[in-house]
Amino acid sequence: VYRSTDTLQTVRGVGPQLAATLADQDIHTIQDLLLQLPLRYEDRSHIVTIAAAPVGEPVTLSATVSKVSHFYRGRRSILQAVITDETGSLTCYWFNASYLKSKLQIGSSFFFAGTLNIQAKTGKKLLTQAAVEALSADTIHTGRIVPLYSQALSLKQGSVRRILKEIVDHLAPWNSVTVASTTSTITETWSDLAEVFKTLHFPEEETAVIAARERLALEELLSVIAKATVLKQHWNQQNKALPIKPSDTQPLVPPSVPFALTGDQQTALTEISTDLKNRQPMNRLLFGDVGSGKTIVAGVAAYWTVQSGFSAALVAPTQILAEQHYQTLSRCFPDLPIQLMTGSAKSKTVTNKTDFSQPKLYLGTHAVLNQLEKIQPALLVYDEQHRFGVKHRSPGWGEPLTIGSIQPHVLTMSATPIPRTLMLSLFAHLSLSTLTESPHIKQPTKTWLVPAHKQPEAWEWIKTQLTTGETPEQGIVVCPFINPSAKENLENVAAATETFAELKQLYGSDPNFKLALLHGGLKPAEKTTVMADVFAQKTQLLVTTPIVEVGVDLPAAKVIVITAAERFGLASLHQLRGRVGRAGQKSFCLLFTTSKNSTATERLNLFCQEHNGLKLAEIDLQRRGAGDLFGTAQHGFDDLTFASWTNVELITTARKTYQRIQAGELAWQPLFVPKAQIPHVAAN
Ligand code: ADP
Ligand code: MG
Repeated sequence: VYRSTDTLQTVRGVGPQLAATLADQDIHTIQDLLLQLPLRYEDRSHIVTIAAAPVGEPVTLSATVSKVSHFYRGRRSILQAVITDETGSLTCYWFNASYLKSKLQIGSSFFFAGTLNIQAKTGKKLLTQAAVEALSADTIHTGRIVPLYSQALSLKQGSVRRILKEIVDHLAPWNSVTVASTTSTITETWSDLAEVFKTLHFPEEETAVIAARERLALEELLSVIAKATVLKQHWNQQNKALPIKPSDTQPLVPPSVPFALTGDQQTALTEISTDLKNRQPMNRLLFGDVGSGKTIVAGVAAYWTVQSGFSAALVAPTQILAEQHYQTLSRCFPDLPIQLMTGSAKSKTVTNKTDFSQPKLYLGTHAVLNQLEKIQPALLVYDEQHRFGVKHRSPGWGEPLTIGSIQPHVLTMSATPIPRTLMLSLFAHLSLSTLTESPHIKQPTKTWLVPAHKQPEAWEWIKTQLTTGETPEQGIVVCPFINPSAKENLENVAAATETFAELKQLYGSDPNFKLALLHGGLKPAEKTTVMADVFAQKTQLLVTTPIVEVGVDLPAAKVIVITAAERFGLASLHQLRGRVGRAGQKSFCLLFTTSKNSTATERLNLFCQEHNGLKLAEIDLQRRGAGDLFGTAQHGFDDLTFASWTNVELITTARKTYQRIQAGELAWQPLFVPKAQIPHVAAN
C-alpha cells in the first residue's frame, strides 16, 4: 500500500534511474507524480473485430499473431506482423520497436490498440505503432480509456502509465477533508482522494473526470483561501510604510488633469488616500474593465506620494505601455518629475546615470523592480498585474514587501473580470476598489463576423471609414503570430508580417493612409518609433500581434480587425475590442475567420452580441468541454492549475467549506502546500 507522501523509489517498477529523471523535474513523491494529470485521454475501450474496425477512430482489437517479419528501410527498423481474429486479418507496423519482436510469438494473442488507417496504394486497412498488451481483464494501455501524458515528463507514455497504474491500484485511503467527530450530527462524506486520482488517471468513463477534477479544484481553492488568510495576518502586522498625505493647500486632483474624474474614480481615490495615511502598508487591487480609467487613479496616488516627499514606482508589463503611461502622466501632471525606465539598451545607460536622490515617479517595465533598493518607493503600482506571468512574479502581491527599512504601499491594477464577491472570498489580504462606470459613454462596438469571401470588401470599407471622417481616425489589425508558421496546420493563419505586406500592396502608397507594423520581434528602438508615429497619428492603420491587448490606449482608434479570430478566447477578444471607440466615438470590430467549424463560429457570433466582459468570461467557461479543461490558458492573478476564477459556484463552496474548517466543524489536511514562498525582500 502506498501513501501520497512516499517517495517514488518505493513504487514497484521505479528504479534509481527513473526516480532521478523524475527528480530532475521536481517530482519526488507519489503525490507529485499523481498531480501530473493526463493532457488528454484516448478512448480505446471499444473492443471490436477486425472486420468491423472503423478507420480513423481509436479501437482495441483482440487478435492472434499469425506472421512476423523484421526488416530495415534505410536506417529505420520496421517490425511487421499479421494479426488475425475470427473475422479476418490485418497488417500491423512498428518503427524502431525491435523490443516487440520477442513478445510477438506466432500463435499468441494480445490486445492491439491504435487507430486504423488505409494504405493509399492497396486500399487495405492497416495499423501502425499499436499498443500491445497481454489479454487480461485489467489492462493499462488497451481496451480502456487510456491517459496520455505530457512529453515534458521525458518518459515513454507506456512507462508513465504503468507506474501510475501501480500507484492508483495500491493507494491507501486518503481523506483530506473529514468531519470532526465532535459534530457527529452531520453525516456527509468527502470523496477519497485515492479514488479521485484513480479516476483522473484511469477513468471508467470520461464524464467522471470532470467531477474528479472539480474535487482537486476545490482543494486548490481551499489552499488559496487559506494562504490569503495567512497573508492578511502578515499584512496586518506590518508597520513600516511611509504615511502619504495629500497636501492640505492644493487640490486633491491637480487642475492640469484635463477631465473631471468619475464618481468611481473619486471613490477609489478616497479609499486609497485613507490607506496611504497608515503605517500599515496598503495592499489594494484596483479593478476596472478596459477603458475604465485606472491609469489616472494611479497617477494621482503617485502625485500625492511625490508631494509628500517620497518616490513612487509604476511597473507596466510592456515597454509600449510604460511609454504610453509616460506620455499620459507627463501631460496630466506637468510638475511631477517622472523617470522612464525600460529594459531597452538605451535606457539602461540612463538607469546608470539615474539620480535617485530626489523624489520621483519611476515608471517602466520590470527593469524598475531591479532598482527598488535605490528607488525606495513609498508606493508601488503594478499595472495589468496578471500579464506579468508566473516568471515575473510581482513582489508585494503576496507577502508584504520590505525594502531596506521601508514597506511600500502596493496598488495593483487589473482588468481581469472577476466578480467582486469572489475576489473578496479568495483574497482576504487584498482590499478592493472597483471602477464600474466608464468615463466615456462608450457606445457598444459594432462587431461582425467576416467570412473569407467578404474580406476583400471589408478592407476597402475600412479605408473609407478611416479616411472620410472629419477628425483623424485609426485602425488596428491584430494577427495571432509574427511570422508565417512552418507548421502545416497553421498555414492558413495570418501572420503580422505577411498581412502587413499584403495590405501594403492592396492599399498602395497613399500619404493619407499610412500603415505600420508592430510586434514583439522588433528592436525596442523600432517599437518606440512605430508607436510614436501611431500616437502622433502619422499612421492610420497599425498591423500588430496581440501585444496591443495589454492596455494600449489609442483614443482615435475606430476599427479593429482580428484575424483568425477563432484562435482567441472570448476574454482576449473582449480586451482587444476594448481598444477601439475609447473616446466615445462610433467603433467597429471585425472578426475575420476562415474556420468552418460550427462551434467556433457560433462562439464568435455570441461574441458579436455580448458586450459584457464578465458574461463573456462565464460563457467561455461554460462552453469549454472536459477536453479543454486541460489547456494551459492563463486565468490571471495567481497561477491556478485546476480551478477557474470564473467558476462562481465552486468558489462559493470553497469559501463555505473554509469557514467550516475554521469553525472546527471539518478537519482539513491540505493537499497543496505552496512549494516556494514569495520572497519577502526585493531581489537586487
Ligand atoms: P484602463 O482602465 O483600461 O487602464 P485608461 O486609464 O487607459 O483605462 O483610460 C482610458 C481612457 O480614458 C484614457 O484615454 C484616459 O485618459 C481617459 N479617461 C480616464 N478617466 C477619464 C475621465 N474621468 N474623463 C474622461 N476621460 C477619462
Ligand atoms: Mg490600463
